[in-house]
Amino acid sequence: MRRAYGCNRCGILTSFSNRVLKWFDVHGRKDLPWQQSNDAYRIWVSEIMLQQTQVQTVIPYFERFMTRFPTVMALADATLDDVLHHWSGLGYYARARNLHRAAVVIRDDHGGDFPSDIDDAVALPGIGRSTAGAILSLAHEQRHPILDGNVKRVLARHDAIAGWPGKTAVAQKLWTLAEKRTPKTRSSAYTQAIMDLGATLCTRSNPACDRCPLADDCKALAAQSVAEYPGRKPRKEKPLRQTTMLIAANSERVYLERRPEAGIWGGLWSLPELGGRTIESWCRDELDAAAAATERWQTLRHSFSHYDLDIQPILVRVDAPLSKVADCDNTTWYRLNEAPPGGIAAPVRKLLDHLNNGSTEEE
Ligand code: SF4
Repeated sequence: MRRAYGCNRCGILTSFSNRVLKWFDVHGRKDLPWQQSNDAYRIWVSEIMLQQTQVQTVIPYFERFMTRFPTVMALADATLDDVLHHWSGLGYYARARNLHRAAVVIRDDHGGDFPSDIDDAVALPGIGRSTAGAILSLAHEQRHPILDGNVKRVLARHDAIAGWPGKTAVAQKLWTLAEKRTPKTRSSAYTQAIMDLGATLCTRSNPACDRCPLADDCKALAAQSVAEYPGRKPRKEKPLRQTTMLIAANSERVYLERRPEAGIWGGLWSLPELGGRTIESWCRDELDAAAAATERWQTLRHSFSHYDLDIQPILVRVDAPLSKVADCDNTTWYRLNEAPPGGIAAPVRKLLDHLNNGSTEEE
């Protein structure tokens, strides 16, 4: 039988990795900004950005980040505010905090060079086995299996590995398979190739099986059960939480607080939450001022991976000279239209933009 990815003479299928590499040589992406050198730092930053975000979204963030922090040392020496500011909009801010913490470890313990030993790489904050393997494979041509979301999907479908990969037993099967499939030569190209194949052909929905080099022996395709792999996470109802955020402002400035590093939006600048207090007591205690007028805005829903948050914004026009509360490390009177003091979470940014463009009273 003659096959597109078989041996030219006998048609027998070549190995899994050979077919993936042959496909990659013709169709793989080779012009992404982080593919233009084997600098481990650039590859590391791109791998972290790509963990929860699509390639096209990542590219402009990556380029801005690299312009501001061109080396590990530049990142390690920067303030967390500066790093979070350049991450603003990408979400999942723990990635940025860990990137900054890991850069400090690399500066202090590894002489400024990303470690070339897999155990040292895995020991860095925010770097798991798959990410470490991908960085060392792409930067140093080391042979390590990888198992990011895209690769899990390809392997689970091709070998019909049932079950949710978040379960230890399923993950172990996939790691064993990933190890078996990784070739001894061209492992760097294979790493890029298998990630690309998952991202561009073996997509979550509507995979392009008709163009896939693995179609001839893909078990899920043969059984017409592609959509069943990988197994889904057992469904749990997402809880809904609520909070009230105060937009304490005069005509040109608004009061912001820096959030504690632990918890949601850690280290980002945010509008204060009312908690159990009344607006009057909050204004008196925090600003030593009275609320001249309040305006309740429409509720804003923000989805986190593990819960939804309904934010009730309340605009509070403050009747006092704002200088009464001095700027300090964790609070500031932010002048709208100026550069923010650091990273700002997406829903807070939305509310500040709304304030800047004129609010709409709801009640
Ligand atoms: S044949 Fe389809 S399901 Fe199987 S690996 Fe290729 S793209 Fe994925």
